[in-house]
Amino acid sequence: MKIIDIIHTVGASFSCEIFPPKSYMNIDKTKAVAKSICDLGSDFVSVTYGAGGGTSQQTVEIARYINQLGGTALAHLTCASSSREEVKQAIARLKDYGIQNVLALRGDIPAELRDKPRDYTYAGELITEIRAQGDFCIGDACYPEGHVECESMEQDLNHLKAKVECGVDFLTTQMFFDNTAFYSFMFRALKKGIDVPIIAGIMPMTNSAQIRRSCELSGATLPTRFRRIADRFGDDPEAMKQAGIAYATEQIIDLIANGVKGIHLYTMNKPDVAAAIMSNLSYIVGADRAGLRHD
Ligand code: FAD
Repeated sequence: MKIIDIIHTVGASFSCEIFPPKSYMNIDKTKAVAKSICDLGSDFVSVTYGAGGGTSQQTVEIARYINQLGGTALAHLTCASSSREEVKQAIARLKDYGIQNVLALRGDIPAELRDKPRDYTYAGELITEIRAQGDFCIGDACYPEGHVECESMEQDLNHLKAKVECGVDFLTTQMFFDNTAFYSFMFRALKKGIDVPIIAGIMPMTNSAQIRRSCELSGATLPTRFRRIADRFGDDPEAMKQAGIAYATEQIIDLIANGVKGIHLYTMNKPDVAAAIMSNLSYIVGADRAGLRHD
């Protein structure tokens, strides 16, 4: 099933992200994670693409497995370190494996390629190629606090609009910890004429090392309220996990109450964290979907 059809049918969609193993030898472990997450009733499950394309085979293999389980897979694909021929082959493989949904990304540019000529500069070029090669549902990334490389939010939104016009069906945000950043971004995006559904990316922060690393990489701001929680409970793994789940739950309740189109959980291959959040939200998601039926 195409994800855009799910988004248009279910009210706020609920999805999870997993990452493939670096080595094909460990694929069964990740398949077990994928199964646990599918069993939770996630509307779709996305599978990341390792930086540099090293996990390409594992990504499509796990995406196909999710579809075989009766779930809906979203396979990520990046282009920054690939040639046109490699990308063409990757798109052909997605088709061969029956994968209809692709998250088309540029990816981070590896340091050794930064000053060299590359076949791809921006994600828009990849989106155009995927569109030309098949009937895919294409998702893409957006950044409520601006992409780290961009000089201004305004410029980032102009680039985002151009990218969407290449043929994007829906967007998923980078993680954020302050919902007001998301609402402000939604307002500005709509003002620019970006009218595809935007899914909110939520990262349940369950350990302090992960908090530091994620914020450094993404440029996401940690609100004081969350910083206090991390300072107080960061050294106690169980307490931090409980607090991180509670914080993410609260963020999601607020987003659903304000009419968000979808929630995407950056689950970091932890089905227990996803299960705890989904259990916290069972009546809320139910009420949201019942409300949609009554509209
Ligand atoms: P782009 O949309 O190309 O944007 C990159 C930068 O270029 C931005 O600053 C933008 O403003 C600018 N730009 C875009 N178009 C133009 C233009 N036409 N002219 C001038 N400037 C332009 N990385 C992985 O390696 N694997 C994954 O699986 C993965 N999954 C992700 C999932 C989500 C939901 C998100 C939010 C990110 C993910 N990433 C992943 C990280 C992502 O690849 C990086 O953030 C990367 O630096 C940018 O990729 P992009 O597709 O957003 O790039």
